[in-house]
Amino acid sequence: MSRLVVVSNRVADPRKTAAGGLAVALAEVLNNTGGLWFGWSGKIVETADGVTPPESPVHKQHAGPVTLATVDLSREDHDAYYLGYANGVLWPVMHYRLDLADFDAGYISGYRRVNQMFARKLAPLLQPDDIIWIHDYHLIPLAAELRAMGCGQRIGFFLHIPLPPPLIMAAIPAHDWLMRALFAYDLVGFQSHADLLHFDRYVQAEAHAEQLGNGRYRAFSRTLVAGAFPIGIDVEEFIALGKNPESVEMHDRMRHDYAKRKLLIGVDRLDYSKGLPHRMRAFRQLLQQYPENRNLTTLIQIASPSRETVLAYGGILRELESLCGSINGDFGDLDWMPVRYMHRTVARKRLPGLYRAGHVALVTPLRDGMNLVAKEFIAAQDPADPGVLVLSRFAGAAEQLKEAILVNPYDTEATAQAIQLALQMPLKERRRRHAALLATIRREDVHWWCQNFLAALSETEAAASGAPWLRL
Ligand code: UDP
Repeated sequence: MSRLVVVSNRVADPRKTAAGGLAVALAEVLNNTGGLWFGWSGKIVETADGVTPPESPVHKQHAGPVTLATVDLSREDHDAYYLGYANGVLWPVMHYRLDLADFDAGYISGYRRVNQMFARKLAPLLQPDDIIWIHDYHLIPLAAELRAMGCGQRIGFFLHIPLPPPLIMAAIPAHDWLMRALFAYDLVGFQSHADLLHFDRYVQAEAHAEQLGNGRYRAFSRTLVAGAFPIGIDVEEFIALGKNPESVEMHDRMRHDYAKRKLLIGVDRLDYSKGLPHRMRAFRQLLQQYPENRNLTTLIQIASPSRETVLAYGGILRELESLCGSINGDFGDLDWMPVRYMHRTVARKRLPGLYRAGHVALVTPLRDGMNLVAKEFIAAQDPADPGVLVLSRFAGAAEQLKEAILVNPYDTEATAQAIQLALQMPLKERRRRHAALLATIRREDVHWWCQNFLAALSETEAAASGAPWLRL
């Protein structure tokens, strides 16, 4: 059995539960084959002005049969690669927000420099029959850099965020370079069929790729396979997490404190893709249009801090604070605050309790690759008396979670109506929908995702038999 090498921007210690389902699933495969996980250490090396720090050595750590290998980044590289190109260009564009992309700043050279450095550090650690799985938008050109150094191993790529329609991709000044870089992979995986369709149209329109059938595409003298592999959660692990004391305590406290009220729950990173202001406007509309909810419904919104140093995030914070303030000012009473908004992260071990206390979850992103909160909410419910999921049709999860109440978050009135429907839903209907949703997330869980991707990757033709890779 080949050894698995996982590469991602950040490396998580798979032995820690805080690492989450993805780390747990990858750890399971890594443990089975003995493996290597490579990425950025999370450490930024600061030096005095104008002095370039020496290139970071590889730090190695052993977690059972898994080797964690990490490198540090200089401040300059971190700012250009991570804050600049990954989060200032690719993140907004991939989430359809060309208006928020900062194309002019020359971040791309830092992005390329870091990917080259990663390739230089990783290549000597590789064995000839390794299977390499590279994750996410930070590392699109990594396979091309490895190929240029002579790596012929099978390399797969999974994009955790959406891929927008071709004309949006084409607005990235270097999009043709990125697309060519994708053809260094043997397998490219997306979260949804919608993303896969965008890829199909994009490579045919912009690269005149030849479609060979069964998801195979040929361009730049290389053949790749593309497919949809919707990521899941570790359902059993999450259910077990819900039984720990922190989670139970969270649930009991919420149900006690809000005994007279129905709880709407929102749990998101504070990100413009999550549609938080739109959600607040829909909640305001709910209170206006269905006054019977006043004094009886509270929205608890967790907005966990995220990428605060990226410019576009300051605006969303202020907008959200002002909307929450005005809803509480206009509708609140001495003993009722309609919105409890917290700009803070809730520990993973407490989250199942919070979800379970919710009568309705509002998961209404304007665009999301998948959205794991939606799946976690389902896993955390009491099957005998489950809460209702209101889910944006623009989350990748909507392709699978058909029994949720699907909404268009841009349509304030329709979203308010959907929330009202969720609040009023009879027990029998709630149970029916929840049972179907739980069966789906159990069947298509994170282990299923991992196995499907790796099986598809090992079925691809070995890259070594393809044409030699020409430097990008
Ligand atoms: N999360 C958390 N605490 C918080 C907010 C979020 O642990 O306060 C976790 C949440 O449980 C989920 C992940 O962060 O596993 C968010 O994943 P999702 O796919 O919903 O969105 P992303 O943040 O990746 O865009």
